[in-house]
Order: sequence, then structure tokens, then C-alpha cells
Amino acid sequence: MATDRLGLYVHIPYCVRKCNYCDFCSLPNGGAQVPEAYVDRIIDEILSYSGRVSTPVDTVYFGGGTPSLLSSTQMARIVYTIRKSLNISPHSEWTLEVNPGTLTKEKVDAFFNLGFNRVSLGLQSIHENEMKTLGRIHTFDEFISSYNMLRDAGFGNISVDLMYGIPHQTLASFKKTLDTVISLSPEHISVYGLIVEEGTPFYQWRESLPLPTLDEECDMYELAGRQLAVAGYEHYEISNYARDSYRSRHNSLYWRFGEYIGVGAAAHSFFAGQRYFNTDNVDDYIASSGISVTQTPESECDLEYEYAMLGLRLKEGISLSDYESLFGHSFIDGKEQIISRLEEAGLLTLDGDRLALTEHGFYLSNSILVEIL
Ligand code: SF4
Repeated sequence: MATDRLGLYVHIPYCVRKCNYCDFCSLPNGGAQVPEAYVDRIIDEILSYSGRVSTPVDTVYFGGGTPSLLSSTQMARIVYTIRKSLNISPHSEWTLEVNPGTLTKEKVDAFFNLGFNRVSLGLQSIHENEMKTLGRIHTFDEFISSYNMLRDAGFGNISVDLMYGIPHQTLASFKKTLDTVISLSPEHISVYGLIVEEGTPFYQWRESLPLPTLDEECDMYELAGRQLAVAGYEHYEISNYARDSYRSRHNSLYWRFGEYIGVGAAAHSFFAGQRYFNTDNVDDYIASSGISVTQTPESECDLEYEYAMLGLRLKEGISLSDYESLFGHSFIDGKEQIISRLEEAGLLTLDGDRLALTEHGFYLSNSILVEIL
């Protein structure tokens, strides 16, 4: 399943403070600089791929954690290593995840000059009480100041992350968040539902959290779909909306079953037909060397499941003929009854070669995928 384009993901597992809902690999560091030892290890891991990868790298994505905590010098060292070690496509997409309140003008200009051409900015909500409950470090004013700084530096492709299902959130407060963000006209907006994950403070407090009801959450999701459609955003993936041609190329690669290399603690890779991942213990990662990975033993069945599960997240769904040529058998054989029932319920469409979820099916995707896969 080799692909003709590759993605590169770089994980920076440090945040100023840990948010109350976060189960990502990220360590609170009070806003201190990212340790040099971590940057050195990232560089060592990228260099280990040098000469082993000929496929052009079409997308580079720095995620976290908070990659905008890297100093401009640290970022330059990593970017130069990527450029000298890998075959980077001439029109590659370079995305940087940013948390408001962690930028300076000097950093923004440096990141732009290093070749980043897309920024994903974590906002979640414009309301101070909702941000405070989430444990976010920034205010709405800090978000606006970061957004303007990025625009002034020349960033023409900005994505804003929003969240629904937040404690204390109402349909009216969510609408105000949507209206405000739409008025800024970012090229891309992601709208994620809050999940109360085990091991987080929210999980400990789950009995007393004033969460919206499931019906209210559904109303928020559908409101986002309607408002963003009116504002000209295409709902191209369950949680993602883009204007014009601004779909996330890097994330689209994941959903289309493309290959990628992940470097850094907890980073996952799908390269040369193999899935593997790095330890999520940051100290162990720093102490390791080369490509220190754990292989994910995968059966053909896992790959079939992933292909369908990822592809059905997209508006265009999956191609049945592509599935058949990849796995040697039909996706729909034996599922005809389930598929027609879901079609009648308005949750799924089967149009020629393509099987896709509808807008309403997107919201119920978890239960639909359980039925169909
Ligand atoms: S900023 Fe993101 S990665 Fe960092 S703690 Fe908050 S949710 Fe987790």
C-alpha cells in the first residue's frame, strides 16, 4: 500500500499547563522553553530517516502539546534538518499548531520565514467561563491578538479549533462563538465534541460536571453544520470545515489511508506498509536513539477496518472499487440489508461506486460505524 506522497508529523509534548480534558501526550512546563535534549532527540530521529525515504514529503505537521513553545532557533534547527534529510515537495503544506498566548511577533515572523504556510489555532470557545472550565491558558483577547499577529506576518491559511459539549455551554453561547469566529473569516474551522477521557480531571469530576445533554450536543453539532454552510464552508469531514480549497492536506492524508512518518514522543507512523509508534514516556523517548519504535502487529482485517473507518469520515466516503482492489473482496457483500436500512433512515448514501455518510450520519458516525464495520 505504498503511496506516492508522504506526510511528516513532529510531536512537541509540552504545554504551559495541562487542560482539564486533555489525554494527549503533553507535559505541563509552565511556559518554559522546550528542553534542548528533546530538540536534539527529534533531530536525531529525523536524521535516522535520511537516505531511507525517497517518497516526496507533501505535508509537514508540527502538533502537540504546544509546538509554538519552541524558540525560533529550536524551530530553525528542526526545519533545516527536515529539509536536508527528506525529499520535500516544492508546494508542500507546513502546518504549525499554536496556542494563543504563546506567540511573540519575533516568533511569528521567524516561523513564517522558515516556510510554515498554515496555522492551526486552538480557541475552543470565546467565553471566559467555558475556557476557564476547560483549563485553557488564554483569554479571547489573547486569541485575537495571536490571530492578528499571524495575519500581519502573512499567514493566508489559518484554521481555528472550536469545541461543543463544554460544561456550562448552551446553544446560545455556542452560536455566539461560531458567529464570532465566522466573522474573522479563517480559511478552515474544526469543531470537535468534548469527550470526557479516563485519567483526566474531567473524568474525576464527571458526576458533577454541568455538561450539556446529548440532545443539546446534537443541536450544537447541527447548528455548526448549518451556520458554516451558510458562511461558505464545506463540511468535508466529520469535524472539519473548509472554505474554497483549504482542506487540511495533512489530515486528509490520514483519512485517505496515505503513509506518514511520525517523530517525537508518542508519534505514530504508517510507513512502508507498517504501522509503528514511539514511546509516550518523554524521558524514555529522549534517552532512546535512532528510530526507536514499537511495531503494531496488524492483520489484514485491521487494515480493512481502518481504511473504511477513516474513509467514511470524509464527505465523499469510500470508493467500493478501490476497496475491492486493495483487499480483494467486496465491502458491501453481506451488508446489503444494513446499508439499505441506513439509507432509508437518511444516514448513509450509496451512489454508484461511493458509500458515504450523510450530514446527519456524520453526527451518529460512531454507532453507524459499529453497525457497518
Ligand atoms: S493545549 Fe492541547 S495538548 Fe496542551 S494540555 Fe491543552 S488540550 Fe492538551
